[in-house]
Amino acid sequence: MAKAVYPGSFDPITLGHLDVIRRAARATDELIIGILRNTKKEPLFSLEERKSMIEDCVKDIDNVTVKVFDGMTVDFARENDANIIVRGLRAVSDFEYEMQMAQTNHTIDPQVDTIFFTTSLEYAFLSSTIVKEVGYYGKDVSHYVPEPVVRKLREKFSDGILK
Ligand code: ADP
Repeated sequence: MAKAVYPGSFDPITLGHLDVIRRAARATDELIIGILRNTKKEPLFSLEERKSMIEDCVKDIDNVTVKVFDGMTVDFARENDANIIVRGLRAVSDFEYEMQMAQTNHTIDPQVDTIFFTTSLEYAFLSSTIVKEVGYYGKDVSHYVPEPVVRKLREKFSDGILK
């Protein structure tokens, strides 16, 4: 059985993430989205908010669940009996870091492999950071994020001013 984890910050989930999730869910039997509790980054959305937005967006995909985790992705994978880590690749700029992480994880646990999904062209420029930037200035973000996230971003930013 192919069981995979897809780790990330998802602050917030974008259409680029969702595209990777749909494709990875088709390629695996079970996919667990792991939201990393990252102490180095100050997030816009709390872990609970991020989890509930993702759950809302993936409720129509049977084999996908959402969890929060701490620490290294390889450990999260093993704790969930998964031997695949899913990551998305947007541009050459992602490549160096992603390759380093994949090789490190594979050294720590040779049973775990990383599989990359190259971004669909229409989402190649998209990142959570860009979405927050555009949302902050009160612009339309509906081309970048799923509907539940559009609503949450509107709630967070009112007339371009952070509540
Ligand atoms: P992290 O902080 O771990 O990079 P992100 O939430 O930014 O977390 O991204 C999680 C994963 O999704 C990463 O592998 C990233 O490359 C991938 N990703 C982010 N945006 C896109 C996109 N637009 N298309 C494809 N993959 C993406």
